[in-house]
Amino acid sequence: MRKSEIVVSGAKFPLYSLNTLIIGSGTAALNAGVCLYDRGQRDIAIATEDFGGGTSNKSGSDKQTYYKISLAGDRPDSPLEMAKDLFNGGCMHGDIALCEAQGSAAAFFHLVSLGVPFPHDPFGAYVGYKTDHDPRQRATSAGPLTSHLMFECLAKEIRKKRIKIFDNHQVIALLTDGRGENKRVIGAVAIDKTRIKGKNPGFVVFNAVNIILGTGGPAGIYKTSVYPESQTGSHGLALEIGAVGNNLTESQFGLASLKFRWNLSGTYQQVIPRYVSTDGKGRDEREFLNDYFPDMGTLATAIFLKGYQWPFDPRKAASYGSSLIDILVYRETVVKGRRVYLDFRRNPGGAGKLRDFSFGLLHPEAFSYLQRSGALLPTPIERLEHMNQPAIDVYKDHGIDLEKEPLEAAVCAQHNNGGLKGNIWWESNIEHLFPVGEVNGTHGVYRPGGSALNSGQVGSLRAAMVIARRYSDQPLKEREFLETTESQIRLKLETARQMIAKGIPTTAGLTKALADIRQRTSVHGAHIRNPIQIGCEVENAWKQYARLKKGLKIPSARDLPAAFKTLDLCLTHAVYLEAIKEYLEKDGASRGSFLVLDPNGEKPCPELDDFWKFSMANPESFVSRKILEICLDENMRVQKRWVDIRPIPSEESWFENVWSDFRNDRIIR
Ligand SMILES: Cc1cc2nc3c(=O)[nH]c(=O)nc-3n(C[C@H](O)[C@H](O)[C@H](O)COP(=O)(O)OP(=O)(O)OC[C@H]3O[C@@H](n4cnc5c(N)ncnc54)[C@H](O)[C@@H]3O)c2cc1C
Repeated sequence: MRKSEIVVSGAKFPLYSLNTLIIGSGTAALNAGVCLYDRGQRDIAIATEDFGGGTSNKSGSDKQTYYKISLAGDRPDSPLEMAKDLFNGGCMHGDIALCEAQGSAAAFFHLVSLGVPFPHDPFGAYVGYKTDHDPRQRATSAGPLTSHLMFECLAKEIRKKRIKIFDNHQVIALLTDGRGENKRVIGAVAIDKTRIKGKNPGFVVFNAVNIILGTGGPAGIYKTSVYPESQTGSHGLALEIGAVGNNLTESQFGLASLKFRWNLSGTYQQVIPRYVSTDGKGRDEREFLNDYFPDMGTLATAIFLKGYQWPFDPRKAASYGSSLIDILVYRETVVKGRRVYLDFRRNPGGAGKLRDFSFGLLHPEAFSYLQRSGALLPTPIERLEHMNQPAIDVYKDHGIDLEKEPLEAAVCAQHNNGGLKGNIWWESNIEHLFPVGEVNGTHGVYRPGGSALNSGQVGSLRAAMVIARRYSDQPLKEREFLETTESQIRLKLETARQMIAKGIPTTAGLTKALADIRQRTSVHGAHIRNPIQIGCEVENAWKQYARLKKGLKIPSARDLPAAFKTLDLCLTHAVYLEAIKEYLEKDGASRGSFLVLDPNGEKPCPELDDFWKFSMANPESFVSRKILEICLDENMRVQKRWVDIRPIPSEESWFENVWSDFRNDRIIR
C-alpha cells in the first residue's frame, strides 16, 4: 500500500493506493481479508466505521444457528440437495444456491480451523439439528453468540496477519470509472472520524483495484429493529453508483426485546411467558392476546410454537397459528400506540372465555416437549432457568432482571434476504465491486435459519478467490486516478462544506430526518404492507431525499459522518420502498415474512376486523416466477426489471474435464 497526498479544491487529503480495500468488519468482510491473504494477495486493508460494530459481533439469539451441509451420521446429504433446499425458498438463483451449498463444508471447516468452538462428538462428527425451512439436520451452533465467536476468531487472524485496519473510517462514497455497463469501481472516500478538526472534514481517499463491500444489512432504515444500534448499513453508497439491488422486498421480521435488542426466539417462547400491553405510561395493563384466541390451550401452544417458528410468516397466521401473535403485537404497538411486554414471572392468565394457564390445556407437541425437558415447573421463569439459564444471564448482563421485571417487545426487522446483486463470484454489476455478507442479497423469499452466516463465509471466500486469481493488478498511478475521480471527490467535499452552516445550534434536523426515515420504513416497509398507502410513502421518501440533499444543515464538521449516513439511509429507504411498491403493483401478495393487506382476502382470525384481510402469493404468479432487480441510472432515475430465476446448473462435472479446465486456468472467470 502506497501513501501519498492529494489536493482537491484547496484541501489536502491522504491518498492510499492498494489492490483491495475491504469495507466493514463483520464476519464476511474479515473472512474476505483472511482468504485474500492466504491466497497471496497482501496489498489489502480494511476500512471500518467501528471495528466490530456490525451485526456479527454484536447480535445473537437463544441458540444462534450456522447452517452447513450435513457432516455427521448416516443421513445422506449432498451439495445438490442442499442447493435445492436453498433454491426452494423461492426467488433465489440456482447457480448461487449451488455455490453456497458447494462451498459450505470448506467455509465451515475454515472457521473450525480458526478456533470457532462448533461442537463435535468423540468421533469428530459435527452433529446438527433441524432449523426452520430445513428438511435435514444441517444446523449447528456454538451457542447464543455464534457470530460473535466467529468475529473474534477472524479478527484474531486479521491481527495475526497484520492486515492494516483503518478503524473509525466511515466510507461515504465509492469512486468509479466508465459509464453504464462498463462502469467499474476504482476507489472510495472515507471520513476518518478521529481527524475531523475545525473545518477539516477528515477525508481519506483510497485508490483501489477492488472493493469488497461487507457493510451488512440496512439496519438504520428501521425504527423497530433488533439489529445492534451500531449497525446501520450503507447500501446507498453502492446504489448511488448504479449497483443493482435484487429481492429488496424480502426481509425477516420477528419478536424481539427493545431495551436490549435481542431475538425472543427458542426457549424464551417455549416457556410460555404472559403477554401484556399497557398504555404509553405503563397503566391499563391487559392480557391482550386473550381477546383473539378461542381458548387458553390454543393461545399457550401458539406462544410455545413461536419459539421455533420465530420469523413472522403469514402462512402461520391463520387457524390461530404462532404468527397471529406478531400481527396482534403490531396492532397493539403501531396501530393502538400501546406498549407490549413479555412477563416471565407469571403464567398467562384467563379472562372472559379463557381459563387460566395449566399444562393440561397444551396441545400434545408443546406438552410433550416441556415434559421431556423436565420443565413442567410452576412459572415461565422457573422453566427458563431449568432449560436455558444463559438466556436469563444475557439479559442480566445488560441490566435486565427477568425475575423482577417484564420485558418490552415489538416485531422487529432482523435480516435482509435480498440486497445488492452479485454473480457467482459475488461481483456486482459494477465491475471490481464485491458485496459480501448480508449486503449481498443472495436469498429470496424463505431461507433456512442460519444460512445467512454460511452465505457470508462462502461469498467472501469466492470473492477472494477471483480477486487473487484475476484482479491482482497494481492500483492506478496517483495522477491517473485523480484525473478520473477528482470531480467525484470534489462533489462530496462540496456537499460536506454546504452542510456545515453557521448559526445551526443543534443536530435536531438530523435527528428528525432519521426519525422520519425510520418511522416510514417500519410502518410501510416492514412486515405489514398496505398497497393503498405505499405510492404516497414512496413519493414522500423521494421528496425527503431531495430536501436533505439540498438543505441538510449541521452545526459542525464533527456531525459530517452522521449527516452522510442520513443521506445514505434516506436513499436506501426510498429504493427499498420503490421495490415494495413495484411488487404490490404487480399484484404481489403476502409471502416470506410480510403480510399484504387485501380486502378480497381472508381475515387471520374472525375476532380481527376486515382491515386485516390478506391472501397468500400464488407460487405460479408473475412475482413468484421472477426476481425484481432495481437500480438508479446515471440521472438517479429508478429502473426496475423482473428477471427470470436461473435454475440450478445441471451439467455433469466429469473429473477429467474439470481437471483439464482447472490445469488450464479456466475455472475462475
Ligand atoms: C438478532 C439477530 C440474530 C441473528 N441470528 C442469526 C442466526 O442465527 N443465523 C444466521 O445465519 N444469521 C443470523 N442473523 C443474521 C447475521 O447475523 C447477519 O446477517 C451477519 O452477521 C451479517 O454479517 P456481515 O459481515 O454481512 O455484516 P455485519 O456483521 O453487520 O458488519 C457490517 C460492518 O460494516 C461496517 N460498515 C457499515 N457501513 C460502513 C461504512 N459506510 N464505512 C465503513 N464501515 C461500514 C459496520 O461497522 C460493520 O463492521 C441474525 C441477525 C440478528 C440481528
